[in-house]
Amino acid sequence: MVDFRITEEQRAHVTWVRDFMDSTVRPMAAELDKVVDPNERFPWQMIEKAHSIGLMRFGLPEAYGGTPVDEVTMCLIMEEFGAGDVGSTGIIAQYWNAISLIDRMGNDFHRDTFIRPYLDDPRSVYALALTEPTAGTDAQLPYDSPEAGPLLEAVPDGDEVVLNGVKTYISYSTGANVFIVFARTDLSVPFTEGLTAFIVPKDTPGFRLAHTFDLMGHRLAPIARLEFDDCRIPKENQLSAWNSGFAELSRFTIGRYWVGARCLGVARAAFDMALEYAKNRVQGGKPIIEHQMVARQIGEMAMTIEAARTTIWKAAWAAQHPDQADPIVLRMARVLGSEAAMKVALDAVRIFGGPGTFTDVGVEKLLRDAATGLHPAPLDVQLMIMGHVLAGTRQGPVAQVNVAS
Ligand SMILES: Cc1cc2nc3c(=O)[nH]c(=O)nc-3n(C[C@H](O)[C@H](O)[C@H](O)COP(=O)(O)OP(=O)(O)OC[C@H]3O[C@@H](n4cnc5c(N)ncnc54)[C@H](O)[C@@H]3O)c2cc1C
Repeated sequence: MVDFRITEEQRAHVTWVRDFMDSTVRPMAAELDKVVDPNERFPWQMIEKAHSIGLMRFGLPEAYGGTPVDEVTMCLIMEEFGAGDVGSTGIIAQYWNAISLIDRMGNDFHRDTFIRPYLDDPRSVYALALTEPTAGTDAQLPYDSPEAGPLLEAVPDGDEVVLNGVKTYISYSTGANVFIVFARTDLSVPFTEGLTAFIVPKDTPGFRLAHTFDLMGHRLAPIARLEFDDCRIPKENQLSAWNSGFAELSRFTIGRYWVGARCLGVARAAFDMALEYAKNRVQGGKPIIEHQMVARQIGEMAMTIEAARTTIWKAAWAAQHPDQADPIVLRMARVLGSEAAMKVALDAVRIFGGPGTFTDVGVEKLLRDAATGLHPAPLDVQLMIMGHVLAGTRQGPVAQVNVAS
């Protein structure tokens, strides 16, 4: 009934991605991570290379040149992304995610206008904007008062729709050419019933990047505040059905365990570094791995990774078998992956002793990356939702909304 063997085909995909991580992503990320200005940190070189080797197309629907792979393979690739650099590789995951979203939610006009022209553009990047300054968790765990949730408003005006308001913490905005924006189209009802998705190209008049935030970790995935001031888009840019944006986004399940799997990659990278160091660093006349406390720490790190990986694989397997869909396991995969990254990266810093905190060693970067992974869709909220779902006590919609991180 259960089979954990990795096939030759899966191994080949993983080797291809791992080679790209080793040759291009990790060295580039180590350098760009040190760039002070977040607006100068966008990993263009890596994205262009990913386009040139066919990686950007890999995870797309077949109609756009993607390679059909099962969910567990995708999950293995996400782990490689996390082990390479969790921030910059999120741009690729988001590209796959956003194109699938437009393909599923939209029509032929959207496919011809916002997918096909960008497939061969080596600088095509997508952003997905839901969060607002006053609507963070409220957009994940809907607080069903009409004045709560996203308030950026979209009003029809002849052949156009006019957007006014602010979105914030939107990943990859500094490089994105296409923004999927969730706007209120009815302010008299809870936002879950009054939200519509639109597509806003980056050069649209009235739309601007107002501020780029600097990040502790995950630094190659800059997040920004977006302002819409009488921003007019053609009415054809309406992506979801009117007032159905939240329901359609909630039904879109692609990529739900990806963040957990990418965080798992951070944990694995930290573990590999710590194990190597423990085998070579000599104190007390022997490699520190031969001291029982360090060996125990290494054992516990491996156990933490394995527990998270098993749950993430189960979530991926369930995603492949819709009759086995399990929202609890999907959330567990997200939480366990993120917590494994944080715990293992912290232990790795401890095993390195003093050098663990040096910026040229690389292990402190993994701890910063791991900590940033705790925040999008706060883990405590995920755990709380699980408790309510299990107890049957949650009133109103419960959605795992899939924004990038
Ligand atoms: C790196 C990063 C990338 C992101 N990328 C995107 C993106 O691409 N697109 C996008 O739309 N958004 C994005 N976000 C925003 C992200 O989804 C929000 O940060 C998240 O939803 C939490 O909102 P908040 O930060 O305002 O925290 P708040 O909602 O203010 O929460 C603060 C604290 O209160 C707790 N809390 C809040 N409400 C409740 C409740 N009802 N019950 C119990 N506890 C509660 C939370 O657990 C948290 O600990 C990103 C954020 C980060 C950090």
